[in-house]
Parts: sequence; C-alpha cells; structure tokens
Amino acid sequence: MFADLRYPIETPPAPGKTIEVAPGIKWLQMPLPFALNHINLYLLDEGDGWTIVDTGICDEGVQKIWEDIFAGELDGKPVKRVIVTHMHPDHIGNAGWLCRRWGVELYTSRTEFYYARGLMADRSEGFQDDALRFYVRGGIDQKILDEIRQRGFGNYHTMTGTLPLGYRRLIDGETMTIGDRVWQIITGSGHSPEHVCLYNADLDILLSGDQVLPRITSNVSVHPMEPEENPMKYWLESHEKFKSIPATAFVLPSHNRPFYGLHDRLDYLIYHHEDRMDALEEACVEPKMAAELLGVLFKRELDSFQMMLALGECFAHLHCLMDRNKIVRTLDDNGMYRFQTVDAAKIDHHEHDKRDDAPIMV
Ligand SMILES: [Zn+2]
Repeated sequence: MFADLRYPIETPPAPGKTIEVAPGIKWLQMPLPFALNHINLYLLDEGDGWTIVDTGICDEGVQKIWEDIFAGELDGKPVKRVIVTHMHPDHIGNAGWLCRRWGVELYTSRTEFYYARGLMADRSEGFQDDALRFYVRGGIDQKILDEIRQRGFGNYHTMTGTLPLGYRRLIDGETMTIGDRVWQIITGSGHSPEHVCLYNADLDILLSGDQVLPRITSNVSVHPMEPEENPMKYWLESHEKFKSIPATAFVLPSHNRPFYGLHDRLDYLIYHHEDRMDALEEACVEPKMAAELLGVLFKRELDSFQMMLALGECFAHLHCLMDRNKIVRTLDDNGMYRFQTVDAAKIDHHEHDKRDDAPIMV
C-alpha cells in the first residue's frame, strides 16, 4: 500500500546543469553541507524569462553554481522573479542575492517572509534562559545542555543572505500566472508555518517544497520560540488538504527525486505519525520525560544537535496527544515535564516502526 511511488528520472542533474522534467520546467540541484546533501530547485519558463523556485543556502560555492546555470541553462533569457516555498535557509538562503543580482522581486507567503526576517535579526550569542528552559523541561541531561548552550541559537544568518526589504505575498487559495500558465497556491503547515506549494492543472504538476517529500520525513518540531504549539495537528490536517490535488500529479519535491504517487505518500505519512503517537502512548503508561522517549522514536544514538531536533519532534507528537486528551503533562519540582497516558486500559499493544535515520532539519 505504501511503497507505490514511481520515479521516472533515474539520475539527478549534475551541478550547474538542468533536466527538463516537463515542458518549460527545469530541475536543478544545489549542494547542502548536511547529512542530506542536496536540495532540488526548479526553473519555470515564462516565455521571455524565468521564474526561480527556491534558492539554496547562501554561500559562494552555491552562487558560483548559479552563475553556471545562468550562463548555460537559461537560453539567453533573464530571471524575472524568485519564489520561495518557505523560510528554511536551504530554500530562502540566496533569495536576496538572486533578487539583487537580477533586479527582481521575491514571492512567498507572509508568515514565511516575516519569520525569516525575524530569525535574520537574531544575532544573539548562546542561549537565552527561556530557550534553554525548553530543553530542561524536556529532561535533557546537563552535558547535552552545555553543548546546546555552546552552539547557540542565533545562527540562521550564517546560511541566509540579506533578504529584500519587501516581497510579493502569495495567498492560499489564490492563483499566480507564470508565463501562460496558471498555478494554484496551496499552503501547508507543520514543517514551517505557511509553506507555499504550487499546482498547475494543465500539466498536473505539484511543486511541493518540503511539504511532501517522497523518501525522507520532513522535520515537524515544537520550537522554543513557540513552546506550547501543536504543529503535528496542522501537519496532519495539511496532508488531508493536499489530497484535493489529483493522485495522478507529478510531484516535484525539494529533496530526493520527482515522483508519482502523491496520495500513497500522503497516506503513508499520516500512518507514520499516527503510529509514532501510538508508540508514545504505550510508552507513557508509566510517567516519562520527553528525553526518555527519544528511544521510542529513533533507533540510533543521537548527538547533541540531533537530540535537539529529535526532542522538538518528540514534543510535536506529545502535544498532539495532549490535544486529543490521550496524554497528560505534569511539571515536577525540578522543572521537568512528565507525560502519562490517560487511559492505559485502552491501549492496544503492538509492534511499531522506529526511524532508522537521524532527524534532519529540513
Ligand atoms: Zn524545510
């Protein structure tokens, strides 16, 4: 039921090159300095120029590859605008540079734009107390806390260049005309707050960003900036919403390869997160701290950075269970949360999958 994805293109484009994946739509890749080593970007032919969708992290190496693309892959036509799906640095990193390079405007949703500008303004050293308290409450031990504190929090600007002052707002439910094609704007939430996707019915193509990825699972985390949020609820609702797009759609994602099998993938991701929540409910028959539950979700040993991401994911699942009245939370005298299943008698004990991959930021 879940493995029915089809990847029509075997080999990704080489650095500085593109592959035409549909009439007037080119796929390119940029390197990332993470375990996940690439991001997919797309060029949409407007007739007299190009629209860029997502931009890569801001560094000289990526910008040099962009120059190769400009020299060899644009058929002598200019870039006319830049669309960004969401505010993560691998997507928005070069947006400002590209807009200035070509004298064009940035298009994205309002929340993503201002979230990015907010993070760009944060040049704080180390961790503020309220941010550190978030990890203390999760039950992270002192040694890991010290490492987290040392790493600091305000490092978004190291991968994101200066953004344009202004932008053009993309709104869910509206359309955007690019060349002679009309694209529906569909936003999702959970991985980032107002993630933009674009669907063209004539081509039956979805530009899905990180909202729908075929192989890896997008990070859905509670963050210290919004410590009581319930992103998993919105993530699952978004998956149901995206089923309004035809199952036949050719999906152009930001990572892995373009694929067919949209509805199968959405169904699998819903199953995956529900199964993780079932596993947490089982594990919390006796009260547990969030840090004690990471082994329920992840097979492998996690370093301090991965533990930060994993704890955010763990909170995301726990908060969704709290919202469903399946789990309750108490704060102990040491300032740590404990989570306990509400109705242990109702639990149907069974095997759960653990994730074999480390949590990743994108
Ligand atoms: Zn992302």
